[in-house]
Amino acid sequence: MRYALKRLGGSVLSDDEKITVIAEKFTGILKALGLDPDSPSLKETPKRVATMYVKEIFVGLKKEAFPKLTFSDFTKPTRSSSTVVVKNIQLVSHCEHHFVPMVGVAHIAYLPKDKVIGLSKLNRIAKYFASRPQLQERLTCQIAESLAHILQTPDVAVFTEMSHFCVQGRGVLDKESTTRAHFLLGRFESDPSFRQEFLWFFPEASMKKNYGETSQNSRLA
Ligand SMILES: [Zn+2]
Repeated sequence: MRYALKRLGGSVLSDDEKITVIAEKFTGILKALGLDPDSPSLKETPKRVATMYVKEIFVGLKKEAFPKLTFSDFTKPTRSSSTVVVKNIQLVSHCEHHFVPMVGVAHIAYLPKDKVIGLSKLNRIAKYFASRPQLQERLTCQIAESLAHILQTPDVAVFTEMSHFCVQGRGVLDKESTTRAHFLLGRFESDPSFRQEFLWFFPEASMKKNYGETSQNSRLA
């Protein structure tokens, strides 16, 4: 959780205060661009953008927004690795370099130790960390490290594939490229057979032949 905790130092402002401050600043942005913030169509825009930042797309900056968790006890079968896998978790995040969307999916695998988590909670945790200005690599890492912490298991693997609008809609204007990142912990990192199992669950992850041999938290494409 070290990344999560370090970056949650956070604001002491209430939500209403944040919205007021951001709306004022955004009015300044509109003016600087030569737009008229008093025009009928822009009049509500600063507050609308500020509310969207605080209550929706960056709500993951608030510790209290972390999902409520439910667990079940789990008795590990002696002869099975019992991998839990959730695929195709839909993610919408925002790149912190340009504050534009990056969208894609996360796949999560873990080996339960003494407890399993409600399945939808994996989706909610991934979406919580996506609801911040992010880097895809950090997002991937935060999901994996928080799950390892919550589930008290060192064995967690997370794979993400995302389209970045800062690549698609500006700059190089490449609409087709996607970015892949993975973060492997515990046996998924250290044990080749578990790494292979991860690849079996996520064949799309094996398109790069050196997958799993690159350093953690690295981009694959
Ligand atoms: Zn960007």
